[in-house]
Amino acid sequence: MKRPYNFSAGPAVLPEAVLQQAAAEMLDWHGSGMSVMEMSHRGKQFEQICDEAEADLRELLDVPQDYAVLFLQGGGLGENAIVPMNLIGRREAHAADFVLSGSWSVKSYKEAQRYGDIAVAATAEQPAELDGSQQGPWTYMPDPMSWKVRPQASYVHLCSNETIGGVEFMDWPDPAELGVPQAVLTVDASSHILSRPMDVKRAGLVYAGAQKNIGPAGLTIVIVRKDLLGSALPICPSAFDYALVAENRSRFNTPPTYAIYVAGLVFKWLKQQGGVTGMESRNKAKARLLYDYLDTTDFYRNPVHRPVRSRMNVPFMLHDESLNGEFLQAAERSGLLQLKGHKSVGGMRASIYNAMPFEGVQALVDFMKEFERSHG
Ligand code: PMP
Repeated sequence: MKRPYNFSAGPAVLPEAVLQQAAAEMLDWHGSGMSVMEMSHRGKQFEQICDEAEADLRELLDVPQDYAVLFLQGGGLGENAIVPMNLIGRREAHAADFVLSGSWSVKSYKEAQRYGDIAVAATAEQPAELDGSQQGPWTYMPDPMSWKVRPQASYVHLCSNETIGGVEFMDWPDPAELGVPQAVLTVDASSHILSRPMDVKRAGLVYAGAQKNIGPAGLTIVIVRKDLLGSALPICPSAFDYALVAENRSRFNTPPTYAIYVAGLVFKWLKQQGGVTGMESRNKAKARLLYDYLDTTDFYRNPVHRPVRSRMNVPFMLHDESLNGEFLQAAERSGLLQLKGHKSVGGMRASIYNAMPFEGVQALVDFMKEFERSHG
C-alpha cells in the first residue's frame, strides 16, 4: 500500500521503516514475550531501550558529557512552566528575558510570568524594513545584537523554529557575546531538532516536544547543562525537577515508555540516514524545491524574511484566498494530507520534517503547479 504524503505540523509523519518495525515488535519485543508497552520501566529490557535511546541521541546531537539528557512528559507547553521552575531560581533576581519571534515564543513568555520577573529582550511584533524590503509582524528574527538581556537574568529564551510562522533561526548567540555572560541561552527547538546540526554548547538548555521530528506525542526531550541543576523553586513538582530526573536517568517516575522506544527507533533510523548532517542536506534540497517554486509565481506567496525561512514549516498563501477550500480538497484527493495553515495565519502550511521524503515535496510542488495552471 502506498501511503499518502502527510504534511501535518505535529503530531507528524514518522519514517515508514520505523512504523513497520514497531508493528513487527508490537506483541513480542526481542523474544521477551512482551510488548514494550507492557514492560516495567525498572526492568532490564526497558532500561536497555531507554539508555540506548539516550546514547543515540547524544551521538546524533554531539551532546557534551557535562549535559544531562532527560526524557520527560508535559510537551512544549509543559516546559514553558518547567523551565522557569528549574532555572529562574539560579540567580537572586529570579529574572528571565524572552525573544519574541512568533506564537510559540509568546506563549513561553506569558507562561513564565507566573514564576518570576519576566521581560522582553526583543520582539518581531512590529513591521520592519530589512534588506531594503518591508517585513510584516512575526516574519523575521530580531538581530541578536539588538536583544536587551538584563544583567541579572538567569536565562534568555528563544524559539529557534516558529512552527506556525515558519521562521527558523540557527545563529544562536553566546550570551557572553551579548554582554551577559551569566545568563544562559534556553532554546525551544521542538519543531526542528535533529533536522540539522545544532551547537548544543551554545545553549544551557534545549527542549523539544517529540511529536514532530522524534516520535509520538507524550515525550519531551530536555538537554541541560548539569551545573544549572539543583535550584528548582520549592513549588516545582518533583517529577519535573531536572536534578531528580537526571539522577534517576529519566526513570524517577514512570516515563512515557512506548514513546521513548519509538523515539529510539527513529534515532537509529537517523543514524542510518547519515545523522543530522545527512538529514540537513536532504532537508535543504526539499526546502529549496518548495521555496524556489513559491518564488517564481504570484499565485502563491510565502511572507517570511528569506534568511530565516524555515526548512521544516513552510506557510504559503494563495493570492486568491477564496480558492483555499478547493485547494485543500483537491490536495487530499491527490494524496497530500493536512496542508491547512494554522488558524492564526490562514492559508496553507507544508511541514516537511525529516520523515517527509523528497518525493513528497516533489508531489506537492507538482500538485501546486497543476492547481495554478487550472485556476490561474
Ligand atoms: N513549541 C513549539 C515550537 C511548538 O511547535 C509546539 C507545538 N506545536 C509547542 C511548543 C507546544 O507543544 P505541546 O503541544 O507539546 O505542548
